Amino acid sequence: MDKFTKPNVFISKCLGFDSCRYNGQIIMDTFVENLKPYVNTITICPEMSIGLGVPRDPIRVVIESNELKLYQPKTDREFTEEMNAFSNSYLKALQNVDGFIFKKGSPSCGYKNIKIYNGMSKVTGSVKGSGFFGGKAVELFPYTAIEDEGRLYNYRIRDNFLTKIFISADFRKVKESNSLGELVKFHSRNKLLLMANSQKYLKILGKIVANSEDKGINLILKEYEQNLKLAFKNIARYTNNINVLMHAMGYFSKNITKKETDFILDSFEKYKIGKLTLNTPMTLVKSYINRFNITYLLEQTYFSPYPEELIFLEDSGKVEL
Ligand code: SF4
Repeated sequence: MDKFTKPNVFISKCLGFDSCRYNGQIIMDTFVENLKPYVNTITICPEMSIGLGVPRDPIRVVIESNELKLYQPKTDREFTEEMNAFSNSYLKALQNVDGFIFKKGSPSCGYKNIKIYNGMSKVTGSVKGSGFFGGKAVELFPYTAIEDEGRLYNYRIRDNFLTKIFISADFRKVKESNSLGELVKFHSRNKLLLMANSQKYLKILGKIVANSEDKGINLILKEYEQNLKLAFKNIARYTNNINVLMHAMGYFSKNITKKETDFILDSFEKYKIGKLTLNTPMTLVKSYINRFNITYLLEQTYFSPYPEELIFLEDSGKVEL
């Protein structure tokens, strides 16, 4: 655990922190509970923050006269202005946040796939969109890891989320050091992780670190951070992961038998067709890296991007990525 910097993660307050849901309930989410010891949590309930009590009549997002409104049908009251003002001021003041976990489906916290009702008094169908607070977070933090607790039951989404928050926290430490030497070390230990996510950004980031134009450290760190965020915008593709694992295999393939090679390649194939998660071929390759004590690969974050206590193989199956 010591080798990982604790990420700062915003989590909706009803996800295990307070009984603040409209009906007075709290949601004990297994993933969030497991994550708590490994992150610094930041938590609020936007609905309570704008003065709504517990319990309260449910609110919903509606479209009325082409405008999104936060509406409480039972009382016929609107909270649009209050929630917009609170979301703006709270989120703009939020510093050094490495990720967000929002309550899915909430008209306030939900960041995608929220039911938006067409009409206030007379409802004529619904569409999908964002909640007020969650939507504002996506707008202000477009490259930060943002998920809801439901999506995090998908293995690939969860793995990507955890990778992003821990690399973001690690980079914050580099920024604090204000040292080119620390940035070079950061880039070096993340090379395979970057290779898996984006060859294009691996090259761009390599050039920034090489600093052939002799730029000042503040500018280098700024440029590096911008491109690092872009590098992790999408979830690494299966083929990219296999390429990285093949690359790693190149360090020890001459020292293992054909039978062993075939066994590893078979695990890559099973991962490619979805019969295995990435964890299996990765663990297999890791076992040879340890056996042959390959220092360069042992130092690569790719093989251990976050604490192993957070690895859970359960997978909810298909979720839109
Ligand atoms: S989803 Fe957000 S607004 Fe709703 S109870 Fe949870 S923390 Fe509060």
